[in-house]
Amino acid sequence: MTNQAHQGDLEINPSPLLAFLNELHSQYKSVREGAVAKYIPELAKVNPDLFSICIVTVDGQVYKVGDWEQMFTIQSISKVFAYGLALEDHGLDYVLTRVGVEPTGDAFNAIILDEQSKRPYNPMVNAGAIATTSLIKGSGPTERLNRMLDMFQRYIGRDVFVDISVFTSERSTGHRNRAMAHLMLNFGMIDRNIEESLDLYFQQCAVMVNCQDLAVMAATLANRGINPITKERAVDKRYIKDILSVMYTCGMYNFAGEWAYKIGIPAKSGICGGIIAVVPNKMGIGVFSPLLDVRGNSVRGVKVCEELSQRLGLHLFDCSG
Ligand code: GLN
Repeated sequence: MTNQAHQGDLEINPSPLLAFLNELHSQYKSVREGAVAKYIPELAKVNPDLFSICIVTVDGQVYKVGDWEQMFTIQSISKVFAYGLALEDHGLDYVLTRVGVEPTGDAFNAIILDEQSKRPYNPMVNAGAIATTSLIKGSGPTERLNRMLDMFQRYIGRDVFVDISVFTSERSTGHRNRAMAHLMLNFGMIDRNIEESLDLYFQQCAVMVNCQDLAVMAATLANRGINPITKERAVDKRYIKDILSVMYTCGMYNFAGEWAYKIGIPAKSGICGGIIAVVPNKMGIGVFSPLLDVRGNSVRGVKVCEELSQRLGLHLFDCSG
């Protein structure tokens, strides 16, 4: 079932949740704080006014407001799903030997590595995500990319594509990520062909989604790995708790602690301006607004999720209701 709101739609579709999303959308669309990401040249072209909110419940109800059809590249939100694929490819014990699960308290692109344990800190920051992507199995770049795309297709429920302009834009300017990959190679933290792994990482970041896709992907995680619309399994259910735990502690970078404290649900942001948030056994939330704060999280996205958490009582540890 689809509930879609446009201005003045509420009498036709009086769903209270949809009315609430509409109210949040009008309340926060005037917020102009923040700036769009510019360090990947193609991303600087995005319209900063775009704004959409979408909720998908585990029983497949879809609630969406604003520019939910607008396509954008998934960026760091992909890290969650690539981690799931690496866990399926190798199992938790091995993956833990390659990538830790400690929050860094630092920026997403910080050049810091745990030299003692010979691992990047966690799979939600760039260094850890590049190491995670280097674990994806396949006989060569094409097979590895196809396995990655198949995985995204299971979560989203349709064919997915890489935005070639964004991919090449990041590949030709991503010197910082390339430097991190070389450092990790130097420390023996990654061992495959790093150019191939960096390409795959840049491609996974350039997978095109819309806000509804984000909510469906989050709802799939909320629904123990089964896409609530297509009913297809996207990831082995035994890894859901590992994925959600690392999202909870590390998904919002150096805002992760405050996010966990105030909003209290596993989430992941990306410099595209997207945020996914997962309410286990209930719903997935997707928000898209490209204006970012200094930590690289969507300004309106954080505000909307905070309000949703408070008003719908979503904080995982809230016992007051
Ligand atoms: N592709 C981006 C990068 O590696 C993703 C960063 C992000 O979304 N925070 O820098």
